[in-house]
Amino acid sequence: MMTKRLYYSDSWKKTFSALVTGLKRDEKGDWICLDQTVFYPEGGGQPCDTGILAYDGKTARVKDVQADEDGFIWHLTEPQNDRLPGIGETVTGEIDWARRYDFMQQHTGEHILANSLFELTGGFTHGLYIGQNDASIDVTLKDGKTHLDQDTLSRIEELANRHVREDGAIVCRFPEPEEFETLPLRKAPTVAENIRVCDIGGYEMVACAGTHLSHASQVGLIKILSAQPARGKLRLFFLCGQRAVDHYRKIYTAISRSSALLSSKEEEVPDRVADLQKQLHNTKSELAALRRKNTLARVPDLLRDAQTLPDGRRLIACELEETEFSDMEALAGALVKESRVLVLLCVKKEGRRNLLFARSADLDTNMSDLIKATGAKGGGRPEFARGAADDALPWEAAKVMVPHF
Ligand SMILES: [Zn+2]
Repeated sequence: MMTKRLYYSDSWKKTFSALVTGLKRDEKGDWICLDQTVFYPEGGGQPCDTGILAYDGKTARVKDVQADEDGFIWHLTEPQNDRLPGIGETVTGEIDWARRYDFMQQHTGEHILANSLFELTGGFTHGLYIGQNDASIDVTLKDGKTHLDQDTLSRIEELANRHVREDGAIVCRFPEPEEFETLPLRKAPTVAENIRVCDIGGYEMVACAGTHLSHASQVGLIKILSAQPARGKLRLFFLCGQRAVDHYRKIYTAISRSSALLSSKEEEVPDRVADLQKQLHNTKSELAALRRKNTLARVPDLLRDAQTLPDGRRLIACELEETEFSDMEALAGALVKESRVLVLLCVKKEGRRNLLFARSADLDTNMSDLIKATGAKGGGRPEFARGAADDALPWEAAKVMVPHF
């Protein structure tokens, strides 16, 4: 006899008693099979119930629940002491109700959302997935479409929430085959016999073995978060019930803080942020132009203070503060326009030293060889080379070595 699923007839049942009919052990731990259970086994995209089993004055935590292909339901059980119940022993159980109620809100809400989506687009849903933070369904749209515009998504959400407010009764039952043939199911069932039908308010009817609320209004609120193409289908992310309320609170708190910081109304925050981004971009451009100008303003002083080597070449070795690489290049470029100039520049950034060595066109000093000779990483052309080092040694070495290059 397969395990009797007590949640089929009453998904609000939280406690039960049952007889142990099987025991097994695998790498996950000890599994207990019962003759009946309120624990929902993982399936249909809905995670399993968790909870406790009690026997002989002891309790054990149920951490996972799985149905096998023969219809037996196994409970992964972690006893507080080492003793597991024996076959034939009576246990009582209780599921974690907050967890189950959350899943029932997501699952029932998904039925209503799927129905609204079907009504407005003709799309079929499959592959419900209830995750830790959100839930998603995959949708096959007409003509292979994988996109719905924001207006359509809003109308689907609006219709789904209207159905929630209509508060239709939710009834799940196993109709006789003759009656089943006559039922207006939204989509064909995936099983052939013993089909359980879920009816929401008379407008939504599908075959479903899941756990449902008893009235549509218990779903509370349905919020579509986003929709994106996924493997030729449309994947729709949504929240129902308490998850949607929590999400609203979190988002509203964030937007309220943003609106206070920006001294603007909540709905004007995106425009204000766009304005600020534009301002920031302009300010950065102005700052960069000023920095470039400041860097290049040093050219006359650097040329004046250049050290003349015995062979007449003029050496400019300079450590720069907080200078962008493009400004270093511009500075080197301006200096080597002069005759017989060797330029060694160094800027310290995040603990590393960036080096730029350049020389006038009328010299034949190989700056790339010089950089390599210092032990820094890098290289380049004979007249222009770049490098980087983790410490000051290559920079100091370059100043000593350059007269001999
Ligand atoms: Zn269902």
